[in-house]
Amino acid sequence: MARKKAVVKVEVAEDSDLSPPPAGLLKEESVVNGAVDEDKSAGRKKRKRTTKVETKDEEVIEEDVKPIVKGKKRRKVEVKGIENVAAEEGDEGDVVEKKVKRKRKTKEEKEAEAMPLAVRTVGHKLYIGAHVSSAGGVHNSVVNSVHIGANAFALFLKSQRKWANPPLAAEALTTFHGNCKSHLYDQAKHVVPHGSYLVNLAHIDKTRTEQAYDSFLDDLQRCEKLGIRLYNFHPGVANSTGGDRQAAIAHLASNLNRAHKATSTVVTLLENMAAGGNVLGSTFEDLRDTIALIDDKGRVGVCLDTCHAFAAGYDFRTPEAFKATVDKFDATVGIKYLRAMHINDSKAPFDSHRDLHANVGTGFLGLRAFHNIVNEPRFQGLPLILETPLESRDENGALLKDEKGKEIEDKGIWAREIKLLESMVGMDTESEDFLKQERALAKRGEPERKRLTDQIEKKREKGEKKAKSPRKRQVVANGKKGKKVESSGENDEAADASLGELSNEDDEV
Ligand SMILES: [Zn+2]
Ligand SMILES: [Zn+2]
Repeated sequence: MARKKAVVKVEVAEDSDLSPPPAGLLKEESVVNGAVDEDKSAGRKKRKRTTKVETKDEEVIEEDVKPIVKGKKRRKVEVKGIENVAAEEGDEGDVVEKKVKRKRKTKEEKEAEAMPLAVRTVGHKLYIGAHVSSAGGVHNSVVNSVHIGANAFALFLKSQRKWANPPLAAEALTTFHGNCKSHLYDQAKHVVPHGSYLVNLAHIDKTRTEQAYDSFLDDLQRCEKLGIRLYNFHPGVANSTGGDRQAAIAHLASNLNRAHKATSTVVTLLENMAAGGNVLGSTFEDLRDTIALIDDKGRVGVCLDTCHAFAAGYDFRTPEAFKATVDKFDATVGIKYLRAMHINDSKAPFDSHRDLHANVGTGFLGLRAFHNIVNEPRFQGLPLILETPLESRDENGALLKDEKGKEIEDKGIWAREIKLLESMVGMDTESEDFLKQERALAKRGEPERKRLTDQIEKKREKGEKKAKSPRKRQVVANGKKGKKVESSGENDEAADASLGELSNEDDEV
């Protein structure tokens, strides 16, 4: 997991709505709401000092947090970036951050990075985008979205892996509104923030539920200030109720009802999950049962993740299977509750209950599944969000690395996936163009599909051996699946920490 830091000098055209300046990624990644993070841990202090040494243009950076205004003149702006920061969960659920230093880039490299990767498609019936970085402040998600040619986007409203966060800064708020307006994003319809991984609204312990509820409510309040109407979150885990699903769902619903009463407009979207076992949202019935207990049905909906659904046993691959899945969703939950989607392929096979996102067409879903998705009239107008990896691979699927042996992150992947998905509307799946792309993408994903198939097979064999021991059989009977959950046994804390990531390599968002 890596942090990239770069200082980029660019020419910014101020007269364009759809071809804006490059990603304005500012300051530190943890300052997602534009305020300075006051975390006093030794590790963070040390890191911040290092940041100061490496960068020296604090005052110029302020340039970029202002709304993009129309005008004909060009100006030079220093844009400093820390992109796609990730963190690793420590044993205690705390965040251990890794630092990677990068040398200053050449003029050519800076100019190449500054160019928008794709021009947004105007007037398309689908609103396709990605979960972009909000490093440096929520307002930066807008320019990051424009940078990849997206017509919708997801973001984190604050650090998704810690409880304490500074409030939304007034400047970030104003700039977010300004950026959405100048770049023509309707944040009420096409922006879908993702909730914190720590929040488990189904946890019945009083202290734990209050902590989760406060963080959740805080996110909803941020949405309302930002003019955002859709908010997506993971329903939770039924461990604290000893696996009693309905009791956990009732607790989740009561928290949602409370949060709806404390706010006025934002619609809370339950995300379907891959894991199975005690993880709520692994079935359409879980979503139905939760919605049934919500007082104000206008304030609840679903964000359907295609990778999660496929891993949970819902197929999308053939037109018939796709129709059966969407019809089942409609019959069980109701299509009117479908308000957003996460458009991911799956590195893990069908019904494997593993949550591993793959690039479009490279996973076990395959390009045909995405052809079905983009041609479904019931999905038109919804925000369709990519949560796919940004790993650069060659045509055979080998990871590309730079001269220092570091993996290369390529945001062009999202730009290309958006264009690919848009282009498949109305496309003939027997055309040479489609077949060629289908073959190329499947080939690129082959090594990862094989790796996961082997891994799952080994795990299954290991599981069968373990199941012979009475103690382990008990764990299986409780329905706990996934690396962390299984190893944590009765440890509720660890089980909750696994809400977003069921193993270290799962890349769920
Ligand atoms: Zn998702
Ligand atoms: Zn998610």
